[in-house]
Amino acid sequence: SRAGQVALVTGGNKGIGFEICRRLGELGVTVLVGARSRNRGVEAAERLVLEGASAEWVPLDVVDAVSVERAATAIEDRFGKLDILVNNAGIFLPEPTPGALDAGTMKAVYETNVFGVQRVTSAMLPLLRRSPAGRIVNMSSSLGSLGLHGDPSFELGGFLASAYNSSKTAVNAMTVMLAKELAGTPIKVNAADPGYCATDMNGRSGPRTPAQGARAAVRLAMLPADGPTGRLFDEKGPLPW
Ligand code: NDP
Repeated sequence: SRAGQVALVTGGNKGIGFEICRRLGELGVTVLVGARSRNRGVEAAERLVLEGASAEWVPLDVVDAVSVERAATAIEDRFGKLDILVNNAGIFLPEPTPGALDAGTMKAVYETNVFGVQRVTSAMLPLLRRSPAGRIVNMSSSLGSLGLHGDPSFELGGFLASAYNSSKTAVNAMTVMLAKELAGTPIKVNAADPGYCATDMNGRSGPRTPAQGARAAVRLAMLPADGPTGRLFDEKGPLPW
């Protein structure tokens, strides 16, 4: 039963993250909206509660180690465990000079998209280990799939963004390695590709809705005990790494 399950969604205040919170809330999961802004976090949680969900804001800035540790302590004090972690918070920065592998852009993007995931996951793992069915879902992208980049028919569109794309490749790699290290525990670790969705990240240019983008992640968050681990999925099924 989902009642009694607790989920943390980083960057849960808007975009795809908010829709993940909304769907998990509809399924009866208690949703912790991880957000760095009090206003945006409280507003999102209040909206979910008005819709009938059990939801609250947890202050969380994924680039701030102190904030991440405080969030883990708050969840431990309040619930004693965590069942679902969705590492959704992410940023996109365009390359200032395409074809130059700009160090500043790469460091800034990795700090959120890669070390943010590392920091939050590492802090939450002790709580996830106390769940009978811990699930970690990392929001990735087809843009990070080396397998797809190796396919000559793969359409990169306008997204020649080395820092962002390779940050998602690193997320994919962490997903595989952590899943292997956690084999033998109930915890499953998978990555989700939401597809190209209209959100603030891309000036709302994507053809998919944020709600559609949430589907793959929600499915991975609710996987049964015999479900997969260490894989990348979009809404239709598994993708190559
Ligand atoms: P949005 O820009 O709409 O939302 C990003 C969310 O991440 C916001 O809630 C933002 O908070 C939060 N965030 C950013 N930095 C931090 C931080 N340091 N600490 C806490 N929260 C932070 O983007 P999307 O909804 O589009 O993206 C969600 C995820 O999906 C990302 O990981 C993205 O890379 C991935 N993705 C998106 C695709 C798309 O087409 N939209 C395609 C493939 C992957 P705040 O409001 O405070 O800025």
